[in-house]
Amino acid sequence: NYSQRFRARRRAAQTKDGFRMTLKANVAMVSGLDDILHLGAQGIGLFRSEYLFMGRQVLPTEQEQYESYRTLIEGMGKRPVTIRTIDVGGDKILTPEALHQNVSSGAEKEDNPALGLRAIRFSLVNPNLFLIQLRAILRAAHGFDVRILLPLVSNLHEIEEAKRYIALAKAQLSEEQVPFNPDVKVGIMVELPAAVLCIEEFLEASDFICIGTNDLIQYCLGVDRGNAAVAPLYDELHPAVLKLLKMSAKAAAKAEKPISICGEAGGKSRLVPIFIGLGIKELSMAPMNIPEVKEAVLGLKHSACVRLVQQLSKAHDGPHAAEILDQFWEKEE
Ligand code: PEP
Ligand code: MG
Repeated sequence: NYSQRFRARRRAAQTKDGFRMTLKANVAMVSGLDDILHLGAQGIGLFRSEYLFMGRQVLPTEQEQYESYRTLIEGMGKRPVTIRTIDVGGDKILTPEALHQNVSSGAEKEDNPALGLRAIRFSLVNPNLFLIQLRAILRAAHGFDVRILLPLVSNLHEIEEAKRYIALAKAQLSEEQVPFNPDVKVGIMVELPAAVLCIEEFLEASDFICIGTNDLIQYCLGVDRGNAAVAPLYDELHPAVLKLLKMSAKAAAKAEKPISICGEAGGKSRLVPIFIGLGIKELSMAPMNIPEVKEAVLGLKHSACVRLVQQLSKAHDGPHAAEILDQFWEKEE
């Protein structure tokens, strides 16, 4: 089985009837990239940049960020790299020292941090920090295929405002005659039901979308993703979750914009036929999951996956959907 997977590493991730998938890695560090390539990653679908900022008393400078991003980008060769802007708040927090020194807003204790000043909201109220990060990314992207990803977008104006900061960062770099990549694409994470309900407008303002299933499921079902007491309710097969995925995939296809899954669900081989059936061609996942997900893709037929999704849309609850999915896999094996 191991050698089978090893051979699969060189093969394209394609279903038996020719539906071609792109499998990328989610990473939080700029080391260990050789291992990630060895596992078959076709790029970085999600770089969780906040880990560069966490656990530090002094936040990284533009130059330090630039060097980290550049190490990541060069380490992936010519493969695409998607860098998510800082996603702090909620369960990912900066040290009190760093907050005290650098942050104009967002250091206050919140009663509901998951619903608080996190992710893109934090960046937009700390424009100095945001601009430094955007400059570092644009500089590091020079000569490479790099994309900027905005986390936890809930309003169109957040995309527009972020794009204004990106334009400002570019204008500054041009003015200073510092090399950068002017063609960096800008996409959003779809992590809130509101983003799905407004997906047409959000797609118009974005070059691509990534579905962050970890947060999307949390906010759709009202279930804390990290609370063991409610873990049984955290169900990626809940009909409401499947509806959100379907709406997003349909809208992205209509808008002819790329859509990917980058939450943990994207690394679960059991769920792969659902994504294929929805027409989602790109998955980004924990690197160690790539070989198994690729194996699943190689064994599936797109046409059967489309039928599966049709059946799943009739499921009346999560356990019923799980039954349908189990039956699908029994037939496959
Ligand atoms: C997600 O929410 O699915 C996601 C990929 O972002 P994170 O897990 O970093 O919140
Ligand atoms: Mg998230």
